[in-house]
Amino acid sequence: MTDMQRITLARRPKGDPVPEDFSLKTGPVPEPGDGEIVIEVSHLSLDPYMRGRMDDVKSYAPSVGLGETMTGQGVGRVIASKAEGFAVGDLATGMTGWASHAIVKATEARVLPAEIPSSLFLGALGMPGFTAWTGLRKFGRPKAGETLVVAAATGPVGAMVGQLAKAAGLRTIAIAGGPEKCRIATETFGFDAALDHRAYEDASALRTALAEVAPDGVDIYWENVGGKVLEAVLPLMNVGGRIPVCGMISWYGGVEDADDRLPMLWRSVLVKRLHVSGFIIFDHWDEYPEFLAEVPTKVLSGEIKHLEDVAQGLHAMPTAFIAMLKGGNTGKQIVAL
Ligand code: NDP
Repeated sequence: MTDMQRITLARRPKGDPVPEDFSLKTGPVPEPGDGEIVIEVSHLSLDPYMRGRMDDVKSYAPSVGLGETMTGQGVGRVIASKAEGFAVGDLATGMTGWASHAIVKATEARVLPAEIPSSLFLGALGMPGFTAWTGLRKFGRPKAGETLVVAAATGPVGAMVGQLAKAAGLRTIAIAGGPEKCRIATETFGFDAALDHRAYEDASALRTALAEVAPDGVDIYWENVGGKVLEAVLPLMNVGGRIPVCGMISWYGGVEDADDRLPMLWRSVLVKRLHVSGFIIFDHWDEYPEFLAEVPTKVLSGEIKHLEDVAQGLHAMPTAFIAMLKGGNTGKQIVAL
């Protein structure tokens, strides 16, 4: 067997992470215990939530300890199994961490179908796609004729939100970073309009542009980013609007200048009687089989489009992660090993 490589948290970042916050370690490939499997990882997922796990703060999930392997989901082949239902050679997924090989408890792993490219289970058919599907149904409650706004619109969550909303008969407006991502949002993912958040110097300018492409106001604001976009959208919300609060990536590195205008803007929530629903996808996994019964055929047929941005090699994890937090990815960020 070859050696196992893994990337650990070397120190806690101050603000935006830098490569020195990570360390590459090499060691023997572990042996599985009873009820465990060893996965040889072929693809790893990079997700915004990983930034939060690098901080030593109380949250809905424990932080990564110093010297521990960075947390994350991977897919690959089972190369050793002491668990019923998993055979050597099976494709499987689990929380492998940022590593070339991983021991995973069978109860926390899943065999993947051989006929579907397994990296899809990190994006459109995995946690991000499922987040969009379940969050939109439960907390967005879309109705034909309404208008939806979502930022990070070409990422795996935003792209799925936009396409499901469009298919439900909504007007869909993308906010994305740069003209190329805006083009992808309309041409690939079918958004009715796309605005480049970088092109507007402040929330007020972005709001003016949004008001032009959303002349009937906004009924659903899918919250992925917070900050300038949130500040731009809130006053445009219609009475009875819904805001599924999925993430706020613009604040993940901390807030430099405590902006005290936002609390005032949140008054819109009261005045417009908005339904703001925070949710974390792991409360909803019992509905994943329903998602798998509906969405994979649509993704494989091309009815629902998806994009992957694939970096090469375990050593690329830190740089690809750092870039993704700033919008360097176009589509689901994956690292192929
Ligand atoms: P993406 O692959 O879309 O990557 C993040 C994107 O965020 C970047 O590409 C960039 O896109 C955008 N971004 C970064 N900084 C800013 C900024 N300052 N202003 C506006 N946009 C910014 O991510 P995902 O689709 O995986 O995740 C989207 C959101 O959903 C995240 O906030 C994530 O934490 C959240 N999430 C929450 C879950 C839950 O259970 N609640 C589960 C899964 C994800 P661009 O260049 O277009 O600006």
